[in-house]
Amino acid sequence: TVPVYYDDDADSDAIAGKTVAVLGYGSQGHAHAQNLADSGVDVVVGLRKDSDSWAQAENDGLRVATPDDAAAEADIVSMLVPDTVQPAVFEAISDGLEAGDTLQFAHGFNIHYNQIQPPEDVDVTMVAPKTPGHLLRRNYVEDTGTPALLAVYQNATDEADEEALAYAQAIGCTRAGVVETTFQEEVETDLFGEQAVLCGGITALIKHAYETLVDAGYSPEMAYFECLNEMKLIVDLMYEGGMAEMWNSVSDTAEYGGLKVGPEIVDEGVRENMDEALEAIQNGEFARDWVLENKAGRPAYTQLHEADRNHDIEDVGARLRALFSWAEESTEEAEAPADD
Ligand code: NDP
Ligand code: MG
Ligand code: MG
Repeated sequence: TVPVYYDDDADSDAIAGKTVAVLGYGSQGHAHAQNLADSGVDVVVGLRKDSDSWAQAENDGLRVATPDDAAAEADIVSMLVPDTVQPAVFEAISDGLEAGDTLQFAHGFNIHYNQIQPPEDVDVTMVAPKTPGHLLRRNYVEDTGTPALLAVYQNATDEADEEALAYAQAIGCTRAGVVETTFQEEVETDLFGEQAVLCGGITALIKHAYETLVDAGYSPEMAYFECLNEMKLIVDLMYEGGMAEMWNSVSDTAEYGGLKVGPEIVDEGVRENMDEALEAIQNGEFARDWVLENKAGRPAYTQLHEADRNHDIEDVGARLRALFSWAEESTEEAEAPADD
């Protein structure tokens, strides 16, 4: 079983007195910076001179400097700018990394695929919260904590584990549980999950089902409702109690049809496609493609992005969601007097 760490396992001395440069003040950056500062850690946010976030971070009570100045004074550099710009930002700050400093990540892509090659005398670690940044901040404020992954890629000081765990504690993660992994495992499972199921698989499945119904003459509104909108109810049930809770909650007809026909639709061929996608992740082919795509100004990405946004299902969805929210509001209004 994988090691899981909690508050009692962490020693805040491993980060006390150190300065953390949080590079970027976006989703993760703003939450790491504020949580660290509220935990008593010295924080400097690293941003470009013309950044709109500069004033925001100062308003939040934080010190701000350019990324290279922030990194130069810091003991720990937390790389929280978008993955695609991290290699360029690393070039700009690498002079500020002294022996014994730490370069820290929230996702392992650039290290695992060699887009960033850190000097051998620094620690390289990862603390990856398993939520978007706004929830990391909210959970800290509400003292509920956020689960996270922790990994050490390079341990030059022999103290990288303790420091990373203290960092995880300071952003509120040991409160919920910190799972130890490796950069390789985090990257490969993350990419596979988002491609096969979470972002890629689910949207492709929904689009195929929607098109099947619409091409057969059913109304786009019905197709949207049955194939996309109800998705949330099903996912919520699985999140709460696994697949069993979902099967228990739907009708026996849905359970029989689902268990019998589901695997005929998402069949062994899909399984083979998944093996291929995993192989492209493992052998670096997907990463190479994405790195080159960015260097070329994202022609394929732009085309895919546009085509997806122009799919009929988006128009139908926008119309229906507007209708539902109107319906919900009017229901609330109608019920309001009874509540008073
Ligand atoms: P964001 O896209 O939210 O980061 C935006 C921030 O980066 C802004 O402050 C922006 O500055 C700054 N920035 C962008 N380009 C540059 C640049 N060239 N030089 C300096 N600063 C720059 O990133 P995320 O928080 O989404 O991701 C950060 C890391 O966290 C990634 O490794 C990601 O994989 C990981 N992660 C993200 C999660 C998430 O939920 N978003 C979850 C777990 C991990 P400006 O304000 O000037 O534009
Ligand atoms: Mg330094
Ligand atoms: Mg991901």
